[in-house]
Amino acid sequence: MVHGGADTSSAPQFCEVLREASLAGHRALVAGLLDAAEEAVKILEGSPLFNAGYGSVLNRDGEVEMDASIMEGTTGKFGAVAAIRSVSHPVSVARLVLEETPHVLLAGRGATEFARTRGFPPVDSRSSRMVEAWQRARDRAKQGLSPETSLFTGLPPDSSSPCDTVGCVVFHAGRVAAASSTGGSFMKAPGRVGDTPIPGAGIYASSSCAAACTGLGEAFIETLTAKYVDSLVELGIHPQEAAEKAIIRLAEKRGGAVGGIIVVDSRGRFGAAHNSRSFPVALVADGKLDESFIPRKIN
Ligand code: ASP
Repeated sequence: MVHGGADTSSAPQFCEVLREASLAGHRALVAGLLDAAEEAVKILEGSPLFNAGYGSVLNRDGEVEMDASIMEGTTGKFGAVAAIRSVSHPVSVARLVLEETPHVLLAGRGATEFARTRGFPPVDSRSSRMVEAWQRARDRAKQGLSPETSLFTGLPPDSSSPCDTVGCVVFHAGRVAAASSTGGSFMKAPGRVGDTPIPGAGIYASSSCAAACTGLGEAFIETLTAKYVDSLVELGIHPQEAAEKAIIRLAEKRGGAVGGIIVVDSRGRFGAAHNSRSFPVALVADGKLDESFIPRKIN
C-alpha cells in the first residue's frame, strides 16, 4: 500500500501516480521487500505532484531539504537521511545508509556528501509551483501576513491539487517493510527535521507490522505514533483498528494534530486512517489493484 500524504488531493492525476507506484512496488517484490518499498517511493519522489523528491515544499530560505527512511520488519534494520539536499531519490540514499554504513541516520551536509560518494548527482528538486508558492508566502510575510497555505502541501487550503509526503508499506510471506519520503513542512526553519526519518515516530517496521505516517511531524515525534501502532498490532489488534486508535490518540494528545497512517501486519491484514481532509492511497493485493479500499476518515 502507498499513500500520497495528509491533505493530498484525491484527484485522478494523483491517484494515477499512486497506482503506478503500488504496481511498481509489487513488481519489485521479486527482488525483496526493501526493493518493493524503495521502488514504490521512488516513483512518487520522481513526480512533481507529491511533497517528496522533485516537488518537495520549500523551507524558509526557499531551499529544499528532504527526509526519507526505510525499515525492514524481520531484521529491524533501519536507514534514514534527514535535511538532505539536491538528490533525486532520498529513499535510495536512506537504503544505502541501511545497507552500507554502520549508522542508521545521516543528516544535513553529511547526508548529501554521502549521496555524492554513492554516485547521486546534484539535482534541483524545486518544482515551479513550489517556487511560486514560496514566493507568494514570502511576499505575504513581508506584509506581516501568514502564508495562507497548508503546512503540509505549501499550497492554499482550497488548492485543487495539494500534495504531501509519501509512504509505503509492504507485506510478503509473513514479512513486512516500510519506506517514506518528504520535503517536510512548508516554510520550515532550515535544518528542521520531521518524523519521517525517526523510527517509531513517522515510520516503523517489526516482526508484527509496518506503519508509515504523514502529518504534523512534531506531533508524530512527540507521541511516537508509528511505534504505538506497532504495539497495538503486537497485542493482536487489527491494523485498521490500530490506525484509527493512533489517529484519535494523536489528535487528543496534540491538540487536534492532523495526519494519516497506513499499516500492514505480518499476516497480510492492512488498514489506513486519517483526520486530514484527504488521504489518497493505492493498494495492490495478490498482484492486483484493489480500488475498493478507502482509508477511514476520523472526524
Ligand atoms: N510528516 C512530515 C513532516 O512533518 C510532513 C507530512 O507528512 O505532512 O516532515
